[in-house]
Amino acid sequence: MIALYPGSFDPITNGHINVMERASKLFDTLVVSILINQNKKSLFTLEERMEFLKGAIGHIYNIRIESFQGLLVDYAKEINAGVIVRGLRAVSDFEYEMQMALMNNALEKDVDTIFLCADGDFTFLSSSVVKEVASFGGDVSKFVPSNVKLALDKKFGR
Ligand code: ADP
Repeated sequence: MIALYPGSFDPITNGHINVMERASKLFDTLVVSILINQNKKSLFTLEERMEFLKGAIGHIYNIRIESFQGLLVDYAKEINAGVIVRGLRAVSDFEYEMQMALMNNALEKDVDTIFLCADGDFTFLSSSVVKEVASFGGDVSKFVPSNVKLALDKKFGR
């Protein structure tokens, strides 16, 4: 079974990696795919986000990194993924995630969404909060892989 973990990953955090480690144990192959969204302003380019991912997931053997644009379920079908993986942090994630899961399943009956919780230590962690803290000079080394920490320091001139 191929599972697809889509997201912006701008940038990847230890919470994302924790979800990937969990999902990789449940499925034969995990495809992590970066959504190319022209309307959403990202801090890092697609190429940078790909590099961060590649540098951080060397310990997960059944993982593949890709990118995509367009309708998620079309892409899932194209790569033969039967499952979409999404992470849940708090109740606040739930409403949006459930709406997307139901819509995707209405569009494509053969694609189901499963939700994984990352380790409790990562419940408060999001790419946006990491960017905000880093932009004000806060130390994010506990929350992101070292390649991302270096890139954030560089981006914010530290
Ligand atoms: P989006 O796809 O909404 O732009 P992200 O790229 O930030 O979001 O995250 C991709 C997925 O990973 C989403 O399902 C998000 O809820 C989940 N996620 C992000 N951070 C965490 C975390 N700390 N713990 C669990 N799940 C997370």
